[in-house]
Amino acid sequence: MPAIMKTKPAYGAELVEVDVPKPGPGEVLIRVLATSICGTDLHIYEWNEWAQSRIKPPQIMGHEVAGEVIEVGPGVEDLQEGDYISAETHIVCGKCYACKHNRYHVCQNTKIFGVDMDGVFATYAIVPAQNAWKNPKDMKPEYASLQEPLGNAVDTVLAGPIAGRSTLITGAGPLGLLGITVAKASGAYPVIVSEPSDFRRKLAKKVGADYVINPFEEDPVEVVMSITDGAGVEVFLEFSGAPKALEQGLKATTPGGRVSLLGLFPRDVTLDFNNLIIFKALEVHGITGRHLWETWYTVSSLIQSGKLNLDPIITHKYKGFDKFEEAFELMRAGKTGKVVFFPKE
Ligand code: NAD
Ligand code: ZN
Repeated sequence: MPAIMKTKPAYGAELVEVDVPKPGPGEVLIRVLATSICGTDLHIYEWNEWAQSRIKPPQIMGHEVAGEVIEVGPGVEDLQEGDYISAETHIVCGKCYACKHNRYHVCQNTKIFGVDMDGVFATYAIVPAQNAWKNPKDMKPEYASLQEPLGNAVDTVLAGPIAGRSTLITGAGPLGLLGITVAKASGAYPVIVSEPSDFRRKLAKKVGADYVINPFEEDPVEVVMSITDGAGVEVFLEFSGAPKALEQGLKATTPGGRVSLLGLFPRDVTLDFNNLIIFKALEVHGITGRHLWETWYTVSSLIQSGKLNLDPIITHKYKGFDKFEEAFELMRAGKTGKVVFFPKE
């Protein structure tokens, strides 16, 4: 079968032919129906510092997936052939202090599917049964594959009340775009989006942003203040990982407001904590991964409600993996929303 593999500790990846794997104890084999590229896959492709320290080539890439179970390994009881599944990426230990407190999303021994083991950019893939999430049969495979990143967006947007609340989203990359549609579906208004890329500001509008700001041309704080009659936003959701966006967002948040941070900053960030957070009595959340499994229920229900506007976010669909390099390069250049592959039969 064809698979996108990180073959060498260097930039790029290769499309290789490998044997269809056999599911071991506690595993299932799936036929991949759809699989989407995550920012993490891009880091592995680019072979950045993090990837160099973590990835052990050769390894099949990818972890966002929708597939059909075609073989069940020994000891797997709750899945059978024909089930449609997606996969939670974090493989948790169940034994550490965090897990024992039901905080599986911050398990201290987390292994990551497609990062610490072979992934799903292939026609067939192995999924650990404990990480499988059953999908309704009528859910579009491309939506089902997006559930994992949607979980990040849902945990960010729904970390506090949002219905009827003014909201600023900084960064409209794939995750910020998912955040916009979750915020709109959850009744946020107005949803104001700050994003420097023209392409992504247009996408943000299509997905449902009420206002878009180019932070390189206008001051997002001033724009937010004029839209909110000087009050500032109730909710600030950081999806960019840009230190400047963090500072602007904190300034644009109303005293007593809520801040949820998903974007990862490339370096330590210096902030006026006293005036931007403490004296404003802001409620600040760090967001990582997804709650197991509450967030998956929320994501699945949101998709089935029909209220999410996912189609404009899926900007690129590829049949087969032949053009994977084009897909990665477009994503690197910031010219995509989500990219989905549909393996050929
Ligand atoms: P991305 O890099 O594609 O998107 C970031 C966007 O922010 C880009 O569109 C960029 O143009 C925009 N941006 C840059 N500077 C800005 C500024 N000053 N103001 C506003 N926007 C600005 O990344 P993504 O895949 O959408 O992921 C978003 C962030 O979430 C990344 O930092 C990623 O590392 C992080 N992330 C965190 C988790 C977690 O569990 N905490 C999980 C996945 C991703
Ligand atoms: Zn644990």
